[in-house]
Amino acid sequence: MKRAKTYRPATQLIHGGVERTSFDETSDAVFLTSGFIYDSAEQAERTFTGEEDRYQYSRFNNPNLTSLQNRLSILENAEACVLTSTGMSAIYASLMPLIKTGDRVVASRALFGSSYWIVENLLPKLGIETVFVDGTKLDQWQEALSKPTAAVLIETPSNPMLDILDIKAIADLTHKAGGKLIVDNVFATPLYQHPLQWGADIVVYSCTKHIDGQGRVLGGAVLGNKETIEDNITPFVRNTGISLSPFNAWVLFKGLETLPLRVEKMTQNAQACSEFLEKSPLISRVLYPGLKSHPHYELGQKQMSASSTMIGFEIKGGKKAAFTFMNALELILISNNLGDNRCIMTHPATTTHMKIGEKERLHLGITDGSIRFSVGIEDVQDIIEDLQRGLDAVAALSPS
Ligand SMILES: *Cc1c(COP(=O)(O)O)cnc(C)c1O
Repeated sequence: MKRAKTYRPATQLIHGGVERTSFDETSDAVFLTSGFIYDSAEQAERTFTGEEDRYQYSRFNNPNLTSLQNRLSILENAEACVLTSTGMSAIYASLMPLIKTGDRVVASRALFGSSYWIVENLLPKLGIETVFVDGTKLDQWQEALSKPTAAVLIETPSNPMLDILDIKAIADLTHKAGGKLIVDNVFATPLYQHPLQWGADIVVYSCTKHIDGQGRVLGGAVLGNKETIEDNITPFVRNTGISLSPFNAWVLFKGLETLPLRVEKMTQNAQACSEFLEKSPLISRVLYPGLKSHPHYELGQKQMSASSTMIGFEIKGGKKAAFTFMNALELILISNNLGDNRCIMTHPATTTHMKIGEKERLHLGITDGSIRFSVGIEDVQDIIEDLQRGLDAVAALSPS
């Protein structure tokens, strides 16, 4: 689809990147093959020297991976994309080729649990100096990036309390320090925020989240310019074997077709739910980028084209109240995935963020009453009635 580049996102997500076979199928074929054959020994040789562009082996590439890479690149307006087995392997693959022993890495504190683990535990073992900063405080970035730094990793909006970080300002400081900025863009989705446009060098997705959005498969993607991706990250993915399976690529490619419908509906529902939650006296804080009360509302308006499918909120009464609320829910599921069609709630302090320790957790604003809410596409009235059920159970706890 040569012309797809000129279409708007929703159209590109149906038509962009299609690799039709000679059978002219409507839907996309699945290429469940580990390898590919050659006409002759000479053709095999030409393929390995790079003279001939051909598929060789599905750890390197496969038509289903090509389709998904192309569709994501169009959406992100990126020169290149490489796919990985999970979101975490995408984070790992975006970081490791940029750094070596003796280098320095700076990261925002509010990171997905496993990303935090890589920076906190793995990198120091390899002789890499790591520094965490409070991502919303520019003076901390200025200080941390006053020394040469190879790579910077941030997430915005962040998991789980939806801090919004200034990508442009952090990118400028990163480049002055000689490094590359990696942005985990999962919470924003590829529809609402384009970090490359604000100066980031690499964008990372867990495709497991909104891109699949139907709770089926795991996958990851790394996007950026040709040099960064194809010279550094693609060889790392291919040679370490953290490639995406063709079947999962096909599932994700189909998922992209309905991404705008799902994400826009989730966002409408999330706006309504955040307004509902904000009115309750049993709730001390609601963090939602679409609410004027969000501490970084203005930055969100500038940097993102819409708010979010995710809400962070805090119930008064700590763990007991939070658990009472969650256990009273009938529709909203307790799970740790996000970006799914179905509403999902997580208690970060006892699950996703249990391992980081209480002090660090509180520093991130994750209290015993904090709940992360991934809003689904169900009828918003049913969702709000379920939230009311939870609030009623919490109200029944107190003596008044
Ligand atoms: C889920 C998630 C990841 C990790 O993705 P997996 O596909 O589970 O490996 C990384 N960052 C963020 C923000 C996530 O939500």
